[in-house]
Amino acid sequence: MATEFTTPPDGERIRVENGQPVVPDRPIIPFIEGDGIGPDIWNATQRVLDAAVERAFGGKKQIAWYEVFAGEKAHAAFGEWLPERTVQTVREYKVAIKGPLTTPVGGGIRSLNVALRHLLDLYACVRPVRWVRGVPSPVKRPQDMNMVIFRENTEDVYCGIEWESGTPEAQQLIAYLMDELGSKKIHPDSGVGIKPISPFGSKRLIGKAIRYAIDRERDSVTLVHKGNIMKFTEGAFKDWGYEVAQEQYGDATISEDELWASHGGKLPEGKLLIKDRIADSMFQQVLLRPREYAVLATPNLNGDYLSDACAAQVGGLGLAPGANMSDEIAFFEATHGTAPKYAGQDKVNPGSLILSGVMMLEHLGWGDAAERIQRAMEQAIEQKVVTYDLARQMDGAREVKTSQFASAIIENL
Ligand code: NAP
Repeated sequence: MATEFTTPPDGERIRVENGQPVVPDRPIIPFIEGDGIGPDIWNATQRVLDAAVERAFGGKKQIAWYEVFAGEKAHAAFGEWLPERTVQTVREYKVAIKGPLTTPVGGGIRSLNVALRHLLDLYACVRPVRWVRGVPSPVKRPQDMNMVIFRENTEDVYCGIEWESGTPEAQQLIAYLMDELGSKKIHPDSGVGIKPISPFGSKRLIGKAIRYAIDRERDSVTLVHKGNIMKFTEGAFKDWGYEVAQEQYGDATISEDELWASHGGKLPEGKLLIKDRIADSMFQQVLLRPREYAVLATPNLNGDYLSDACAAQVGGLGLAPGANMSDEIAFFEATHGTAPKYAGQDKVNPGSLILSGVMMLEHLGWGDAAERIQRAMEQAIEQKVVTYDLARQMDGAREVKTSQFASAIIENL
């Protein structure tokens, strides 16, 4: 693999028109292979994606891969963790994919993933959670879960506005809140965090979730919030959700209140149901009644918890795909970290990155290739040809290396 930026390969750029990608037959797609186990899982993923596209389109379509750099490889080659050229290239080419990146210790960068989301304004974290047949799961009917979680990426407690206990800033803020704004008593040695949630941030995220649900013919979008306690942040997120549904998709959507008031609880043909659930009850719902939920829209922290809980229900994070998106850019990624103790051993499960590649193919409108991979991976797992993480949970499994698991998928394409 290269260690310096090269000129783009032969191919064409993906354009975005009216929010939809316009995809040439040979799109140039930048990739970051990632740190730790990144190269192992990237090699496997690239082979599977290329083989599936070849099988689906017989050479008429092909991805022109363009390597760009971030993380340890960028630091070693250029002395920078996240070169501007990488960010600019992803901005230009609209669709990209990455392996996991090390979080540098010191050096002023909180996390490369957070930096990328911020620089590219990737405001929606999108996590489909669906069971892959054959994967061991802790619940009786993992096949009942088929949800896509849209988690807001830029606001809420995660945007990092906080002050440490005992610092002059924390004390100043506490005094201001109590003396000037008349807040309840706050213990003077508290650390303080601020949780901003805006109509701008909420509406664009929820609008994207609704658009997705309509495009994919899903039947509901659920707003997950803790508005019974935090009325002006979480409660407002819910209210803005109903507003955006009404303002932008009035003809296509119906609220749960209307559903019962005017339709006896039966969803009218072609309508998308907008409902909301308090976050704690939602954790019960995903376990007890998963079939009643299709697309979820959440503020940042609720979505963080819920994505991992839902992933656990279908067999864990090892196979969970994800993407971070703006209005124009879609950046697909493995959802686990760099697992440094397994780096270079050709050992770990490439499933998360491969399924992120499946999401990417769906986003390109190359559904035939996407479905082939999904089916082929299920077959490999049903044949019990799996990497160590699944093998240790399955009776009679044949444990294979990362590259061999990719080969087993390719054979099943
Ligand atoms: P991690 O890399 O996700 O690894 C934790 C454990 O999860 C591994 O020891 C392994 O468990 C299992 N695991 C992860 N990926 C797997 C795979 N593909 N196949 C099978 N098992 C897998 O989490 P971490 O050790 O907390 O983080 C390491 C580094 O990654 C840190 O620098 C962190 O900041 C970074 N990170 C990056 C991202 C990202 O780029 N999106 C996300 C999270 C963390 P067993 O040992 O039990 O088999």
